[in-house]
Amino acid sequence: MTTTPLDFAMRARALDEADPLRGYPSRFLGSDDPEIVAYLDGNSLGRPTRATAERLTAFVAEAWGGRLIRGWDEQWFDLPVTIGDRIGAAVLGAAAGQTTIGDSTTVLLYKLARGALALRPGRTEIVLDRDNFPTDRYLLEAIAGELDLTLRWIEPEFTGGVTAQDVADVVCERTALVVLSHVAYRSGYLLDAAAISAVTHDAGAMLLLDLCHSAGAVEIELDSWAVDFAVGCTYKYLNGGPGAPAFGYVRAEHLADFTQPIWGWMGRESPFEMAQGYVPATGIRRIISGTPAIIGMLPIQDTLDLIEEVGMAAVRSKSVALTEFALELARSSLVPLGVRVSSPTDPARRGGHVTIDHPRFKEITARLWQRGVIPDFRPPQGIRIGLSPLSTTFAEVLAGVSAIRDELTTD
Ligand SMILES: *Cc1c(COP(=O)(O)O)cnc(C)c1O
Repeated sequence: MTTTPLDFAMRARALDEADPLRGYPSRFLGSDDPEIVAYLDGNSLGRPTRATAERLTAFVAEAWGGRLIRGWDEQWFDLPVTIGDRIGAAVLGAAAGQTTIGDSTTVLLYKLARGALALRPGRTEIVLDRDNFPTDRYLLEAIAGELDLTLRWIEPEFTGGVTAQDVADVVCERTALVVLSHVAYRSGYLLDAAAISAVTHDAGAMLLLDLCHSAGAVEIELDSWAVDFAVGCTYKYLNGGPGAPAFGYVRAEHLADFTQPIWGWMGRESPFEMAQGYVPATGIRRIISGTPAIIGMLPIQDTLDLIEEVGMAAVRSKSVALTEFALELARSSLVPLGVRVSSPTDPARRGGHVTIDHPRFKEITARLWQRGVIPDFRPPQGIRIGLSPLSTTFAEVLAGVSAIRDELTTD
């Protein structure tokens, strides 16, 4: 028996009706915009929540416009760590005092990697992989040049990612730091962080995880996995808005000895004393450099409100159901047209997006955008179907895959 388009339409409707998070897509702005048929790129830029639109307007009028410079004393000074602690508790499995927000992921990665390397003097190697996001690779190339260190590259499978065995094969007594993405930005592979952390520590090295593609999509337990350092974007699944500041995590046991290379006044103990000489602030504030982007960190709080309401376990279940449905549709209607699935088939090893490949996908992505179906293209020939769990419906998944099929069958 073959599955007809009508069967799939009924399935999508049934899945949306049974979805425990079905009330959440409408809490995002634009969810009722008829021009947007399917937004499948919430893993690159999450939609704004309706609450954020109100929060930003109120902030300008009341907090910035009304409290003026007094706002720093009342709330803004603590906001990076207050929000950091909320991200830690709701999303990262991190106890208070280890997370803050500020800078971009790129800058925070640099600061944390340099700080980490300073804790392993005499060790000369950094482990990384060829499929990591460009910024991660470039930064580590730069750091290796600055400090005269050697990069040990892992070459993961195209449709997979870095395994604990891959890491075990390259770490040794020379390894200072292992830097990996928890979910691979291209294939969507979700690595086994607990196992990789253990293998890394067995060699006496430390682990820095990039959580850009996992924070807000998969469950994370930084404290119990014994991850040493982590960074991640807030404008992807956390819907913080374009260029929203990143979060950084430093495990409590490292904080007392940790120093990062960008010594700014806001990361100093008692910054308003304007004293001579840099003394790092106590605790996680020491990873801050200059004045944090307060406006940029406001919207994250609205997504945290939603995640705190439902919990990450429910978010992850929705995410798995969305990617499973996307894969089922892709197998039945795209694979027969020569499309290749380039994401893991095992949901336990898959993050919140699905990548499919075809030689025509670059040109087809541009046409999809014109018709309001918005995934993204990643070289060499991949369409990434990003399924932000709180804002995406099963109907959108179906509309997206059907549009891709349409484009593939017209020339
Ligand atoms: C999106 C992403 C980044 C982006 O870094 P920015 O400094 O925000 O541009 C970095 N690493 C990974 C793995 C990403 O997915």
